[in-house]
Amino acid sequence: MRIDLSNLKELGSYKEINETVEFEEISFRQREIEVPGPFLLSGNIYNAGKEFILNGTLEGKLIFECSRCLEEFTEKIKIELEEEIPREEINNLENVDLTHLLKENILLSIPIKLLCSEDCKGLCPVCGQNLNYEQCDCKKENVDPRLAKLKDYFEK
Ligand SMILES: [Zn+2]
Ligand SMILES: [Zn+2]
Repeated sequence: MRIDLSNLKELGSYKEINETVEFEEISFRQREIEVPGPFLLSGNIYNAGKEFILNGTLEGKLIFECSRCLEEFTEKIKIELEEEIPREEINNLENVDLTHLLKENILLSIPIKLLCSEDCKGLCPVCGQNLNYEQCDCKKENVDPRLAKLKDYFEK
C-alpha cells in the first residue's frame, strides 16, 4: 500500500486513512498463508518532526492450516497499530510504501498455536480420519476381543 504524505510537510499536520490493502500470500515459517480478501486500514498519520506516526487498526482475515487436523480455517485478525516511520527512511513523500510495515505487523499477530478450535480432536494416528467429523474404529480393533467384551460390560 502506498500513501501520499506530500501535504504533511508541516509539523503536526495529519491525515485520516481509510483504505483497503491488498496482500498477496504472506510467508510465515516457510509456509504460505492465504489472504482471502483485502485488509482494511483505518486511522491517521501525522507529522511529528523527525518521524511520521501512524495510528490505527488493521483488520482482515487469514487462512491457516490447523496444526492438529490439517484442515484450513479462517481467522479474523485485528491489529492496533502505532508505528513510527523515520523521516530519513522516506525518499519520496508522494509515494510512501507501507506494505512492508503492515505485513510485519500481521506476522507478529499470528498466534503460535494454530488450531481450528481449542478442542480440535485432530487426526487418528492409525487411519488418518479427522476425528472432528467422525470417530473411527481404530482403538477398538487394537483391543483384545475379550477385553472389548469386558469394556462393553462396564460401559453398560
Ligand atoms: Zn483442527
Ligand atoms: Zn482411525
